[in-house]
Amino acid sequence: MKDPNCHFCTDFVKREQFMLPICELEITDLFLYRDQSYYGRVLVALKEHRKEIADLSQEEGEAFMRDLGKASRAVKAVVNPAKINYGMFSDKLAHLHCHIVPKQVDGPDYGGMFQMACNPPVHLSEEEYAKLIGEIKANLE
Ligand SMILES: [Zn+2]
Repeated sequence: MKDPNCHFCTDFVKREQFMLPICELEITDLFLYRDQSYYGRVLVALKEHRKEIADLSQEEGEAFMRDLGKASRAVKAVVNPAKINYGMFSDKLAHLHCHIVPKQVDGPDYGGMFQMACNPPVHLSEEEYAKLIGEIKANLE
């Protein structure tokens, strides 16, 4: 099911202001977050429009966790974070997705909650985005 008002489902122009597609996983799509304040930040979004983990079958929930694990292992291999934070909020954009946010001890917000939108954001060049996407892809088993 797709929602015509949802930028994960249909509004790709708006979506690409915030994230760049990396690849498709089992039940989700993997994206690189454009704001790289937390270097290596990615996001997995369910391919279908569902609001809650509670809306997934047992099998879909397990597939969602496998995708989270796969994406997290790739991020860990590429940026060697001190810790990875996971965020699922989104009251207003209710399409199930999870932020995967690597933290470094000397990086922003270590020991606290990561910021959804850093001010100012850290944007990379298109070449740097492509390089990071390539590194993450190469580390997906
Ligand atoms: Zn959606």
